Amino acid sequence: METAKYKRVMLKLSGEALAGEKGYGIDFAIAQEIAAQIKVLVEMGVECGVVVGGGNIWRGRNGEDMDRTTADYMGMMATCINALALQDSLEGIGVQTRVQTAIEMKEVAEPYIRRRAMRHLEKGRVVIFAAGTGNPYFSTDTTAALRAAEIEADVILLAKKVDGVYDKDPYKYEDAVKFDELKYIEVLEKGLQVMDSTATSLCMDNNIPILVFGLDKPENIIRAIGGEKIGTLVKK
Ligand code: UDP
Repeated sequence: METAKYKRVMLKLSGEALAGEKGYGIDFAIAQEIAAQIKVLVEMGVECGVVVGGGNIWRGRNGEDMDRTTADYMGMMATCINALALQDSLEGIGVQTRVQTAIEMKEVAEPYIRRRAMRHLEKGRVVIFAAGTGNPYFSTDTTAALRAAEIEADVILLAKKVDGVYDKDPYKYEDAVKFDELKYIEVLEKGLQVMDSTATSLCMDNNIPILVFGLDKPENIIRAIGGEKIGTLVKK
């Protein structure tokens, strides 16, 4: 078994990652594949927090003619649906998991309490942070940066559709070049689409490395944790 380079990680899964080829909703086969990879991490002794997005169901910006705050709350609700799906997949293979929500829904999940989240992590439970930051006008990337700082994660594993950060859109341009490493400030100055700028700034200010990699192969999660050179590492 590989040895882990990191002790505590924050895995950010976009909603898109859970939708698979369908592009919408939840593909349970994909959720189970991801859960299986998370299980390996846990068995390696890595403490794992997860932030899930909601874009496979709803994003605030989908509600063009809506009140922005309401549309954003709908997005936060969407992340809760994904969180429960992932929890179900994890528990189905015997991984103890707690969902903590930034908006209280006590009958469904625990409210977010940092100290409690830390305790779960120390006990080897996976903690899924749902409902974003609980505030409109933010994203789940920012949630990942915030919660990673709070739980003192060693790294954010940012699972994307693309296998790293490129100088331009690799789906549109054949000559797009992938970066192996980047500084936070380069991401901000070049306007690279890694995370939104709020999230990137938060990582920069708190010195949290971000490893961007493709989830086209779920086993990439294990490769990333083993310290293999995959994707793009964003750091100081
Ligand atoms: N959202 C929010 N505040 C947060 C996190 C998320 O308002 O702290 C809303 C926002 O509308 C966002 C949606 O939830 O579009 C889903 O999150 P996101 O777009 O980050 O999901 P992803 O792109 O990762 O699937």
